[in-house]
Amino acid sequence: MSIIQTPSVTSVPVSFEVYPPRDDAADAALHETIAKLAAVDPSFISVTYGAGGSTGGRSLEVLTHILRETRVEPLAHLTCVGSSYREAASLIREFLDAGVRSFLALRGDPPEGGGAEARGDLESAAQLVQLIDRVQAECSPYTEEPIPGVPGAARVERRRHVDIAVAAFPNGHPRSRYPAEHLDALLAKQAAGATLAITQLFFHADDYHAFVARARAAGVEIPILPGIMPITSPSRLRRVVELTGEPVPGTLAVDLDVEPTVEGRREVGIRYAGELCRAVLEGGAPGIHLYAFNHHRTVLATLAEAGVIPPIEETT
Ligand code: FAD
Repeated sequence: MSIIQTPSVTSVPVSFEVYPPRDDAADAALHETIAKLAAVDPSFISVTYGAGGSTGGRSLEVLTHILRETRVEPLAHLTCVGSSYREAASLIREFLDAGVRSFLALRGDPPEGGGAEARGDLESAAQLVQLIDRVQAECSPYTEEPIPGVPGAARVERRRHVDIAVAAFPNGHPRSRYPAEHLDALLAKQAAGATLAITQLFFHADDYHAFVARARAAGVEIPILPGIMPITSPSRLRRVVELTGEPVPGTLAVDLDVEPTVEGRREVGIRYAGELCRAVLEGGAPGIHLYAFNHHRTVLATLAEAGVIPPIEETT
C-alpha cells in the first residue's frame, strides 16, 4: 500500500493536517473545511491526536466523518506517551474497528516534570509502529497458498492492510541529545515498518533538501513528505517557533512585521509558503503536506500560488 497517490485534480500529491474541533461551532466549520479540502482530491487528510489521550474520541469522530462523507483517505495521528502497552493496543484496535487504515505513529511529548510513569510503556515512535503492525496483523485473515511440488504444504501469509507514517525533523528534534539522533530514530521507525515520513514544518527549502540527502546517505529509503505551514501573522510565527524550536525565518518575520493589514499579512504568508512548495517540488519532493489549521482558504491559496492547483476564486 502507498498513502501517497497522485490525485486526479492536480499532478502533485497533496495532503492536509487538521485537528479535532473544540466545540460544536468549530465542528460545523471543520466539516465545511474538510469538504473544500476533499475537492482537490488529496492523498489523505490527517487528524492530530492530543498526547496523553486528551482528544482521542474527537479525533476518531473527525476521522469517521472523513470516511463517511468524502472519498479521501483519513490518516490518524496516534501518540503513545503516557499509555500502557495494553491501552495503546486497545486504542489501535478501536481505530481499526472504525475503518481507519492509515496512521501517523508518534511518541508525543511527555508532560513537563513527569517521571517514568508519565512516559508510559512505549518509549519511542518506532515501538508504536511495531505495535500498530502487530495489532493489525491480529485483525487480518491468513491466506494460504499451496507450495508447488510439495504436496500438502501451503505458504501461510498475512497481508498487511495498514499504512504507517512517522514524523521526521529536517532541523533535528529539539530534545535530541546528539546531532544525528533524530536520523537514528527515523531509521529505527523505518526498520519497524514505517512506509512514509512527514516532516516537521521548516522555512527554507535547503533545510529539507539537505535533510533528505543526509537521510538517504544514512539508509532511509521511505518517501519524505515535506510538511509546510503558511503563516499569516507575527503572533502565529512566534508561537510556532516556540513550539517547534525552529530557527526564526528572518525574511518572513520582517515581512509580516512591517505589513500593516490583515489581508496583506495573509498574502505575505501565502506567497512565502507557495514559494517554499515550489522549491521543494523542484528539488524532487514526493508531494506537499500542508498544516491547514482547520481553515481551507489559506492552504488552497498556497497550492494555487505554487501552481499545484488552478487559481481559486473564493479567497475570503
Ligand atoms: P520519536 O521519533 O520516538 O522521538 C523523537 C526524537 O526525540 C528523536 O528523533 C530523538 O532525537 C529524540 N529522542 C528520542 N528518545 C529520546 C529520549 N528518550 N530522550 C531525549 N530525546 C529522545 N504530537 C502530538 O501530541 N499529537 C500529534 O498529533 C502530533 N502530530 C505531529 C505530526 C508531525 C508531522 C510531527 C513532525 C510532529 C507531531 N507531533 C504531534 C509532535 C511529536 O509528538 C513530538 O515531536 C514528539 O516530541 C516526538 O514524537 P516522535 O514521534 O517524533 O518521537
